[in-house]
Amino acid sequence: MFGQGLVKGLSITIKRFFQKKITEKYPEVKPKLPARSHGSFDFCAEKCIACNLCADACPNSVIKVDYFKNEQGKRVLENYRMNICYCLFCGLCIEACPTKALNSKPDFELAGFSKDDVVASWEGIARRNEGETAEDAVNKTGSGQQEV
Ligand code: SF4
Ligand code: SF4
Repeated sequence: MFGQGLVKGLSITIKRFFQKKITEKYPEVKPKLPARSHGSFDFCAEKCIACNLCADACPNSVIKVDYFKNEQGKRVLENYRMNICYCLFCGLCIEACPTKALNSKPDFELAGFSKDDVVASWEGIARRNEGETAEDAVNKTGSGQQEV
């Protein structure tokens, strides 16, 4: 029948008009995202064993792990850096981490004015200064949790 589409469209419009509004005035009103939604990253230096599995799993070479070996031959994390501007948010690094040191968090506002603004780095976690033994450096490991 001629005009049937028009009637159907109008009925949808009228129905929606009286329904509860679901649009949000972002950025004034922040969206309530599910706890497991993947925005930025949470990295816990205390849990990281510098195994490099996250960096190996990353298809875009986003992650760089610097470490040294202590007297017992154990890896000690020095710096952890993520070039988030190249991240695909695929989550492969999180899946690969054996100690759950790397997790996602819902914070999605990651835009910056330059590429350097979109870098997450945890640096100087353990350093070997002159005269400092590897054991001293190990004792400094785990400067806590930092967030981007
Ligand atoms: S989410 Fe994917 S692209 Fe981003 S750092 Fe992890 S593995 Fe790499
Ligand atoms: S974050 Fe996880 S996978 Fe990456 S180096 Fe640390 S322990 Fe290994």
